[in-house]
Amino acid sequence: MAKKQFKAESKKLMDMMINSIYTHKEIFLRELISNASDAIDKLYFRSLTDDSVTLKREDYRIKISLDKENRTITIEDNGCGMTQNDLENNLGIIAKSGSLDFKTENKSDDMSIIGQFGVGFYSAFMVSDNVSVRSRPYGSDESYCWTSQGVDGYTIEPCIKEDYGTKIILHIKEDNDNEEYSQYLEQYTIMNLVKKYSDFIRYPIKMMWETNRLKEGSEDEYEKVLEERTLNSMIPLWKKDKKEITQEEYNSFYKNQYGDFSDSAKVIHTKVEGNATYTALMFIPKHTPFDFYSKNYEKGLQLYSSGVLIMDKCADLLPDYFSFVKGLVDSEDLSLNISREMLQHDRQLKLIATNIEKKIKNELLKFMKEDREGYEEFFKNFGTQLKFGMYEDYGIHKDNLSDLVLFTSSFEKKLVSLQEYIDRMPEGQNTIYYACGESVDKIDLLPQAEQVKEKGYEILYLTENVDEFAIQVLASYKDKTFTNISTESLDLDTEEEKKELEQINTDNKNMLEEMSKALGNSVSNVKFTNRLKSHPVCLVTEGVLSLEMEKVLNSMPNDSGAKAEIVMEINKDHPIAGKLKELYITDKVKLEKYTRILYAQARLIEGLTVDNPTELSNMICDLMI
Ligand code: ADP
Repeated sequence: MAKKQFKAESKKLMDMMINSIYTHKEIFLRELISNASDAIDKLYFRSLTDDSVTLKREDYRIKISLDKENRTITIEDNGCGMTQNDLENNLGIIAKSGSLDFKTENKSDDMSIIGQFGVGFYSAFMVSDNVSVRSRPYGSDESYCWTSQGVDGYTIEPCIKEDYGTKIILHIKEDNDNEEYSQYLEQYTIMNLVKKYSDFIRYPIKMMWETNRLKEGSEDEYEKVLEERTLNSMIPLWKKDKKEITQEEYNSFYKNQYGDFSDSAKVIHTKVEGNATYTALMFIPKHTPFDFYSKNYEKGLQLYSSGVLIMDKCADLLPDYFSFVKGLVDSEDLSLNISREMLQHDRQLKLIATNIEKKIKNELLKFMKEDREGYEEFFKNFGTQLKFGMYEDYGIHKDNLSDLVLFTSSFEKKLVSLQEYIDRMPEGQNTIYYACGESVDKIDLLPQAEQVKEKGYEILYLTENVDEFAIQVLASYKDKTFTNISTESLDLDTEEEKKELEQINTDNKNMLEEMSKALGNSVSNVKFTNRLKSHPVCLVTEGVLSLEMEKVLNSMPNDSGAKAEIVMEINKDHPIAGKLKELYITDKVKLEKYTRILYAQARLIEGLTVDNPTELSNMICDLMI
């Protein structure tokens, strides 16, 4: 049988596995057991709706056998099995999900790669130099065997296999100076690994256990006795009393069940009795899952009915904005044979979902209070999701989420919640100020911020595209409205200042109109302002659309042609004001040039482009010579 080649990416990964210096090679067992358990789940699910699958729950099991002499470990399941094609597609090609652009050749990153790409099977090559997979799908009478010694490729050929399911035979590597592979042929090692990583696997993991016993009737003669033992307790963690569960147990359950390689950031374990009776065990990951922002990411909690898994990703249990939450719900109120369609309309499930949403929110609030650093880290990972949640569905969830969002503040550039912001608002301030821009540093330099800062008011720096949309949907927080510092009506002046400014604008009406004309349609108005302290000029907007929103909307694929109404404001106290007034009398052509240069400068400060950079550069040059 001709050898087939692995796809380039698989080969690369395989190579990494074989040469892995990762110290936890032992996880190979967990990976293979999880695959076996998944395969059984698949057949079990089928049995719920397919009468031709006549197995009972008790029939399912995973078997491990050790053969020291031949240096093999065999892991066998009676799950769904694989066809010839499956073997080819599942084990010959990895990372079907997309490009495997490995971050690095760097070996220390081995594990995050194994975890991220769900390539658990290949971990077998960390400890074996030959792996064969014999498989027969349930209901088929054809079996095939996939064999590989590593990067060179693999073969698939027909074989004889008595039962359906999959049998994986690992030939364990010889020991070397760095690694004692033989330990994996010891029954105690295997038992400990199962306990450590796979104790909650729902199906029994059985192994023939060898003991030495006194021979019957003899006082000093021993004989080897083999008896089948179930190595895992199968008691679901969430059924245990919370007080008896260690953090370590939660961690290992999370990593094992949800394929993460680091501990979770937070565990939420709750038992509820009443209108809806259920237990929920949920986790907030420490890192953003690699596919979180892709279409492949599926949200949902596992759904159990009295300890039996009935759905792997029940999307209805989680709102989109909490889609990062992993975990499960176990309820006695749900029937085992409920179909997906029926579940959607299930009143009980809806009730549970509502409770869970509240619970997650409260836990996140607690998280923010009790572990600020941890929460900020969480927010870096999933904050965007929460902000999208505020904006989505016309803002119907905004009140649920507004307590949870953080923004960078002009005070020390630290993150602040809206509650914290209003708690420390000085007397006289009655609106929440914000400014938008590409980065905190850039916003910090915005001329428009000067007056607000001088008054001692705090400004929220909005740097993400979604931010301003979310804020606008929110409209107010605890009766405080929001004000973009780059909008026209900042209203920070005293009555006297206002009057004075009005006077200046009236006195120079003709000049300002002339300047506005010079800018054509680009601006709707040119005015003097009090808003600026050291800077000569800035742009502000009238109406609902800000410059930042214009930028975001116009960068979308279906360019909406959105246009903000722009007002160019000139610092009334800046020497440029005097210069402009002078030019208005002495040199109108120059006034026009100055106006256009000022406008271009203001655009650049806002992070906008200039329509005609060559012309601008020539104009500046003219002034220089
Ligand atoms: P993952 O399990 O993350 O998808 P793996 O590399 O561990 O990645 O496995 C690849 C695929 O091979 C699985 O998705 C599954 O379809 C199939 N597979 C692996 N082990 C078994 C098994 N024991 N029985 C049936 N199918 C299996």
